[in-house]
Order: sequence, then C-alpha cells, then structure tokens
Amino acid sequence: MICIPKMKAKEAEPTYILRGQDGPLEYISASRLNCWMGCRRKFYFRYVLKLPTCTSPALHVGKSVHNALQDWNHGRWAAKPLAREELQKRFYAHWDSELKDNPVTWKTEQDEIDQCQHSWKVQETYLDSNSIPQEEALEGVEVRIEAELDDLPPLLGIVDLVREGGRIVDFKTAAKTPNEETAAFTHSTQLSLYALLYREATGKEESGMELHHLIKTKQPKVLVQKLKPVTDRKITELNDTLHRYVDSVIDEDWTPSPNFMCGSCEFFEQCKQWKGAVA
Ligand code: SF4
Repeated sequence: MICIPKMKAKEAEPTYILRGQDGPLEYISASRLNCWMGCRRKFYFRYVLKLPTCTSPALHVGKSVHNALQDWNHGRWAAKPLAREELQKRFYAHWDSELKDNPVTWKTEQDEIDQCQHSWKVQETYLDSNSIPQEEALEGVEVRIEAELDDLPPLLGIVDLVREGGRIVDFKTAAKTPNEETAAFTHSTQLSLYALLYREATGKEESGMELHHLIKTKQPKVLVQKLKPVTDRKITELNDTLHRYVDSVIDEDWTPSPNFMCGSCEFFEQCKQWKGAVA
C-alpha cells in the first residue's frame, strides 16, 4: 500500500479543479454556503461530485410558487401588471415545465393534482394579502448581483425583490408557521450575503430585510417578517465564514454532520457507503 502524505494529496488534486468552471469555488452563493454550513459531506456530493438527485414534492412546490411570484412581480415592476387569470395559467405552465426538467415521484396521480391546486391557493393567499401595496414601485425583481472581494471567489446572489427605499425581500414557502426568532437566525447567512451584495452594487445600505413566508397549511397563511438592516458584526461574521468556506473546500474537508434530518437527506445511501473522497 502506498501512503500518500496529506500535502501530496492536495497537490495531486490542483485547486484549479475546485476553482474552475463549474467547480465549487467558481463562485460563492447563499445556497452553496448554506449547504456547506449544514454538512460538508453533503456539499461534496452536491457540488463536487454533482451526484444526480430526485426533486422532492416540497422543492417542486417551492420552485413553482417562486416562478409565478417572479412573473407577478416582474409585471408590477414593468408597470404591466398581470391579471389573476393570466398568472394562474403561468403557474400551471411553470408546474408542468419544471416537472419535465426535474421529475417528481408523487404518492399518487391525485396527490400531484391536490398539491398543484393547493399550491395555487397558497399563491392566491399571498396575492390577496397585499403584503406589498399595489401602488408601491419596486426597485428590482430577481436582481442578479455579483461582487468581487479580496482573496475570495466572486460572490453571486439573486435577490427575489428590492422594495421601494431599498428593502430586500426573500420569499420562503413553509409547511408550518415558522418561529420568527428561529427563522431570522436560520436565514441570517443568506440575508447577510444579500445585504453585502446590495451594498457593493449600490454603494448604500439596505433600509431593512424582509422574509415573506408563504405557509402551506390546509388554510394557507402569510407571515411577513420585517428585520432591521444587517449589522456590521454580521457582515464581519459573514466575511469570516466565507474565508473558512474557501479554506475548507481547498483542504477537501468533507466532514459529515449526522443529524436528525439525515433520513431525508438525498445522499443518505451514498453517505452510509462512504469510503472516502478518493475511493
Ligand atoms: S446523510 Fe447526513 S451526514 Fe450524510 S451527507 Fe446527508 S446530511 Fe450529511
């Protein structure tokens, strides 16, 4: 058996593979960072090995609702608001086209129909809530922002919505009403990243952050959570996390983080059979 010292192994796997096109260090996004923070081994399966995965019904619902919200807000931003019937048509079109690209295993055919109809009800509940008054001008919809910071790969974020006056909004679909303190904490890295990107792009501080929760309970609900601008301490913490992320990926640290959610992890089987990254 040939023993390869750790440093040799790192040299043998040049970091350009990690930094190159489609590599995990080509850019840093909130979803990459969140995945890495949740479980480094999951990050390895998803972003280094790029193992194929099945789309869960919940993810499909979230994407379909998100796509229709994007159409709705884009219409508002362009001063060409969509009629409700037109949006409903688009919602069903998004539902079908997403399924073509990313098939979902439903419990039954009826399950898909029920989930589709309920998702539209969730969408309508949000529109009826008038959470962003109709007369308000939007600064941006699905705003793609990139930033270059010293010693880091490019940062990339797609901000769901920027309200008048620079309030950053992110849409979330949830199975039940979230605890606001927990939600603010859970999403703090993503919100800090968006705040940092917004500041880099505009040269000014956001006026606040908002999480718009679309809750998929039997009787759908909406919770608009208003948060203060991201603090300097949080930006410093984010900067530190970004550097740790890069160092850990270059070091190929794929430490697992077993937790009570592992049973629903899309890589559960691969993880159980893990024999190392160079197996
Ligand atoms: S099963 Fe658990 S430990 Fe393994 S990759 Fe998934 S989240 Fe990580």
